[in-house]
Amino acid sequence: MSLASRAALVTGSTSGIGLAIARALAKEGANIVINGMGDPDAIEKERASIEKEFGVKAFYNGADMSKPAEIAAMVADAQAKLGSLDILVNNAGIQFVSPIEEFPVEKWDAIIAINLSAAFHAIRAAVPAMKAKKWGRIISTASAHSLVASPFKSAYVAAKHGIAGLTKTVALELATFGVTVNCISPGYVWTPLVEKQIPDTMKARNMTREQVINDVILAAQPSKQFVTSEQVAALAVYLCSEAAAQITGANLSIDGGWTAG
Ligand code: NAD
Repeated sequence: MSLASRAALVTGSTSGIGLAIARALAKEGANIVINGMGDPDAIEKERASIEKEFGVKAFYNGADMSKPAEIAAMVADAQAKLGSLDILVNNAGIQFVSPIEEFPVEKWDAIIAINLSAAFHAIRAAVPAMKAKKWGRIISTASAHSLVASPFKSAYVAAKHGIAGLTKTVALELATFGVTVNCISPGYVWTPLVEKQIPDTMKARNMTREQVINDVILAAQPSKQFVTSEQVAALAVYLCSEAAAQITGANLSIDGGWTAG
């Protein structure tokens, strides 16, 4: 197992892409802290099943990723429970779809906090120990929307472009410390985040559900297929490997060709 003895924290890992990344890292032998919202019984079931299935240690920390103090405390908690923190995956994210002039201010603030500032707070807290150890992997789930825009997603597109810039900056700062910093930019992955935005997109564009799926979502992706969470997770595992030690500051697309056009 290539990541045995590594310790990883994956934010927003109670669902979707984050859960797939946490499971894939655990499968490679990493001990894990999972994080995210949801039903406590379902989260405990998931945590226990990661331990049982993969023979690693798995803890849950319920830090709210919009709260800087909770994020810093979670990083310290992960370091204490796992003995170190070698891999940080900034993945928690939310979406909201609305024309700019009607975009609720509190939704803008929440998206910038959870999708962008949370990564800053987690990286800031995790970096000193990674630098001291001279090994680390920081991966953020960005998006095709870190490279291109779509209408009605002002906060999300701004936050994801911010993640791309943050990634490049921190990569340069840590380049001589054995710590790589990259972001992964998926196209559309079928998760609750995508499913939830369909009704608002129907309203904003005056379309049916089928029209939104085929003419908005899959229209963006030349492959005409959704990316899977497992495909994103496999890329994250690769970035944690020794083979990827010279990949840093990169924004890796996994989008069925979306941003090639
Ligand atoms: P999801 O809704 O399935 O998962 C989001 C996770 O973030 C959940 O675990 C949720 O509990 C957690 N979360 C949300 N707000 C939180 C908060 N305040 N504090 C702690 N945790 C919080 O969505 P997903 O599609 O798996 O998205 C994961 C990441 O992937 C996001 O950053 C998203 O922007 C990005 N992404 C998704 C897609 C896609 O098509 N699904 C495409 C590109 C990028």
